[in-house]
Amino acid sequence: MNLKETSFGEFFKPSQLTFELKSRDRLEAIEELLDSLVKQKLISNKKLTLTRIVDRENLEPTALGHGLAVPHARVDTEGQMAVAVGRSAEGIDFAAPDGRPVHLIILVIWNPTIPGLFNHLFSGLASFLVRPDNRERLFNAREKNELYNVLAQIPLAFPYEDRIVNRASLLKKLQEIELKIRRAPEAKQEELQKHRTLIREELDQSLLARFDLLMDRYGYAVSEVIDGVCQSCNMSVSTQMASAIDESNDIYICENCGKYLVSPGKREKAASKEKSEKEKAAGEKKKASHPAAAAATRLGQVKKASPAKAKAAKTRKN
Ligand SMILES: [Zn+2]
Repeated sequence: MNLKETSFGEFFKPSQLTFELKSRDRLEAIEELLDSLVKQKLISNKKLTLTRIVDRENLEPTALGHGLAVPHARVDTEGQMAVAVGRSAEGIDFAAPDGRPVHLIILVIWNPTIPGLFNHLFSGLASFLVRPDNRERLFNAREKNELYNVLAQIPLAFPYEDRIVNRASLLKKLQEIELKIRRAPEAKQEELQKHRTLIREELDQSLLARFDLLMDRYGYAVSEVIDGVCQSCNMSVSTQMASAIDESNDIYICENCGKYLVSPGKREKAASKEKSEKEKAAGEKKKASHPAAAAATRLGQVKKASPAKAKAAKTRKN
């Protein structure tokens, strides 16, 4: 994979580090860190952010053991990511798996339009923190600057922008995993379940509820659009819609069969082109086309990519 090398320092400034937290319990400490982000205008909705973080903590504590915790939530931030770090010499009870108090809290809020970001940040932090000598450097820091410098140098690697997955491809990935889980032997279940939980955390509740419903009812929830045709029901989607699906991070639904529509990967697309050319050569013509019946609706809240095209598709529908 094509990776961009960077370090944790790129994501936070010394002003986002609290060398001695005043708080003595988990909730207060999280609030204290959020207050520092509000003060620096890095988050705007403290109440919502706190709720998301607490929900996540209740699902499963984010303490990693060895005195560390990484509470996190996916909320609209001003930038890509808002990070606050707090140290507590005395230690805070975070319901850690090893029962030990937490001395270093790394709080991460990240923007929902880039869902893959947190996983890459987290894996970089985890591979640094897993080493006892690295943790000692953090815990033994005697003053704020020293601690900041150790944190800032933690190496991280991110995929280049286009490799960060979007929500539609996360839904597709989730479907692949759900299907694997049904067939996988007992020994592989735990790993697959873990993978599933990770992906589900990145997706909105409303998307997941619909996804689960479709999986229950049809065994599939996501359908590829190849050459403008929904592969689940074989109905064609408007050309504007098909190209919007290719280029944007919006979520589209097939109006005919209700499946989430995704674009196939580049390799599948090339293969399908080859296949359709062969079919054409063989004189086969059996593509269903009922354009009026099979327009697709858009559902996403993210409206960054190609608004002109989406608008055109909408107008055509009416
Ligand atoms: Zn369909």
